[in-house]
Order: sequence, then C-alpha cells, then structure tokens
Amino acid sequence: MSTLISSRRHFLLSSAGLTCLADVNQAFAAPVKQTKEAPEGAASGVALAPPQKQPEKLKIPVKATKQLGWAIVGLGELALNEVLPAFAGCELSKPVALVSGHPDKARKVAEYYDIEQDAIYNYDNYDKLAEDKRVDIIYIILPNSMHAEYTIRGLKAGKHVLCEKPMSVSVEEAEKMVAAAKEADKKLMVAYRLHYEPFNLRAMEICRSGQLGKIRTFASTNGQNVQAPNIRLSAKLGGGPLGDVGVYSINAARYTIGEEPVEVFATAQQPKDDPRFREVPESVAFTMRYPSGVLAHCDCAFGMAESRFYEVNGTKGSLRMQPAFSYRGLRLHLREGDPKSNTAEDQELLLQAKNHFTEEMDHFSRVVLNDESCRTPGEMGLADMRIVKALERSIETGLPVKLEA
Ligand code: NDP
Repeated sequence: MSTLISSRRHFLLSSAGLTCLADVNQAFAAPVKQTKEAPEGAASGVALAPPQKQPEKLKIPVKATKQLGWAIVGLGELALNEVLPAFAGCELSKPVALVSGHPDKARKVAEYYDIEQDAIYNYDNYDKLAEDKRVDIIYIILPNSMHAEYTIRGLKAGKHVLCEKPMSVSVEEAEKMVAAAKEADKKLMVAYRLHYEPFNLRAMEICRSGQLGKIRTFASTNGQNVQAPNIRLSAKLGGGPLGDVGVYSINAARYTIGEEPVEVFATAQQPKDDPRFREVPESVAFTMRYPSGVLAHCDCAFGMAESRFYEVNGTKGSLRMQPAFSYRGLRLHLREGDPKSNTAEDQELLLQAKNHFTEEMDHFSRVVLNDESCRTPGEMGLADMRIVKALERSIETGLPVKLEA
C-alpha cells in the first residue's frame, strides 16, 4: 500500500463525488451567535434558512488518504487507449509499474505516467514483482491464452489480480485461477466493466425489481469488424468471437435474468474465402435456456459493422440497451406495457455517464483496502467459461448441450 494522494486528485474527486462518508453532525450543532443585526453568515437583509431545514446528520465525504499501486501487464490497445488514461479519474488507484515485451514503448509510457523506470518489467522477470512493494494489484491485459499463466504467477507473487475477459481459454484454466487466488489468500476479479457503470447497473435494478413483470426472452448482438493482424483472429492466442464479444451477451443475460442457463445451442459460420477467418469463426449464433423458462437468443461476429445491444422482454414491459457494451454513449430505453390493450409507452432513461475503467479499478482497490468481496469475482468468469465451452461443444457436435443447474 503506497503513496499519499495528491491535492490535485482531491480536487478532481470532490467534483465527481465520493462514496465514503463521515458524520460531522457535531460541527453543525453549535449554537448560532445572537446579535441585534443579521445573524452571522446571513446575507444583509436576507434571513438564514430555518434550523429545521438543516440536515440532522450531515454526511460529507472522507478524503481518501491511500492509493493502491497497480502494475499494468501488456501495453496493447486497451491498456494504452483506455486503462492508463482512466487512472486520471481514480481516487484509490495509481499506475506504478508496467510489464511489456517492448522496453522502448514501456519507457515512453512510464515517463508519461510518472512511473519509475525501475518499475518496468518484462515477461521473464515478471515474478520479481513479488519484491516490489509499490505494487498491490496486477492488471492482466494480455491475449486470452496468457491470462491464466500471468494471473496465477501474479497471485503467487503475493499480489491481487484483475484479469481481463474472457478469463481464460478453458474451464480447467479458470478453475486453477480461482484455486490459486484461494491458496494465495488474494483477491481475483474479472474485468467485466459493465458492472461498474450507471446504465447497466440501472438495467440490472429494473430487471430485479420486477418492473418488467416476468422475464420471457433476452436478445443480444455484439459484433464488429476486426482487421488482421489481431489477437482476436488467432486460435493460438485464444481468439474468436464467442470469448471476445459473445461473452458480453452471456454475462448480460445473467445480470438481467438472474439465472444460469441449463441448456445451450450454437452454430457458427467460418467463410473459406476470407483469410481473416482461417482459424476462428466469423460469426456465431446461440440460444440459452434458463430454469424458469426464459429463452435467450444471441449472436456475435468479427465481420460486421459495429452493433452492440441487448433487449429484455417481460410480461409487463421491456428494456433495450443500445449501444449496450461500448465504452461510451450507452442508451437505455424502457417500454412499459398495458397488457390489456397491448400498447406500450417508450421512454429513454437519461443517466450521468461514468468512465467504466475508472469505476472498475477503484472498486477493486476499495475491495482490497477494505477486504470486501468484489462484484465480478473469478467465480463469475469461471461460470462464463463453462457456458462458452458448452457453446463451442454445441458448434462441434451440432447438438444442444446441457449444463448443470
Ligand atoms: P492487443 O493485441 O492490442 O494488446 C495485447 C498486448 O499483449 C500486446 O500489446 C503486448 O503488449 C502483449 N502481448 C504479449 N505477448 C503477446 C503475443 N504473443 N501476441 C500479442 N500480444 C502480446 O489486445 P487488446 O489490448 O485489444 O486486448 C487485450 C486483452 O484485453 C484481451 O484479453 C481482450 O479480450 C481484453 N479487452 C477487453 C476489453 C474490455 O472492454 N474489457 C476491450 C478490449 C480488449 P507488449 O507489447 O507491451 O508486450
């Protein structure tokens, strides 16, 4: 645990609002000095707000005094374009080390983010992080095939680990990662950033509240055009649309429906005339059946113009998030129906957007600082891997695959 927080950061954060609150009632209970003129603090000729309008227990944020040190592993697109810039808004998290196979790039990045040059590591001396007291948390942003190895090594080095999605490339790997966290007595979280941003949180709340009635169906698409070369097009690096983008629909189905699927079916298209798809499918369509009878139908693709949405349909209404999985610009529509006339009112819910990565990283730092449970633990990544692998089995066999309830 390291570093006193800077005054500039205090300023940034107080405007964003903090969650940790203190009772300062005492300060406000002091008697107001009586004078013949206007009371102290009153604008001339204007009365003060009446005492009964004063909050009984005023809560104001406690200033953060500690920031945890983060090591960023893999300086690719996500790390450079989203994660490292997002630290600027963090209250509790600060980048203090980098792990990269390219020292020149790492040196430049370190200089820009005020990371000490002796905190640059590579994939061979990665385990030396164990001795680096500046580092509390390791964030794995590597190709999927490397997630398990670097997560387990990170945990063995005595650090807490945030691992990018998909958690691994097999169920066995995911199980080993969860076991390694238990053994090391360290936290393992999977980077499902949508659990930390207001639009998806509101969608979860609406579904849980029963506002949509009984949920009947879930529909989702998550697709984009992927240009070669890209880790997503390599089988060896754990690419393919199911793990990369399909997992968002799988995860969103869980957090809206609130159940685990008991049967899945998938079919895939792998065109022979497009060299991008020599090793992985271009598109996958899949269905999932849930114990209550909810049906989900989803698709994901690497050869289409960007489209990212989900829709939850219930007996009393439906909600639609479009875009649902992008970093910015999410939009949430709610349709509440009148079952008798079969009509529905459509409204857009306008919420204050937040940076997903800032929220996610500070959540994990808070979890570590307070020794709490995280919202998206390794076990959730493991549950998703079980579904991804069942879907892959279905593609291979052409048959539905049952999952344990
Ligand atoms: P990139 O290919 O842009 O970056 C991966 C980085 O991993 C490379 O830059 C490299 O860093 C390092 N690396 C180490 N070994 C290899 C190797 N053999 N081949 C390629 N790269 C290697 O990928 P992304 O940043 O787009 O994705 C990284 C991870 O983040 C993936 O797991 C992906 O699923 C996830 N992701 C999550 C998103 C989210 O919203 N949560 C969005 C995008 C991606 P260096 O040169 O420093 O060694």
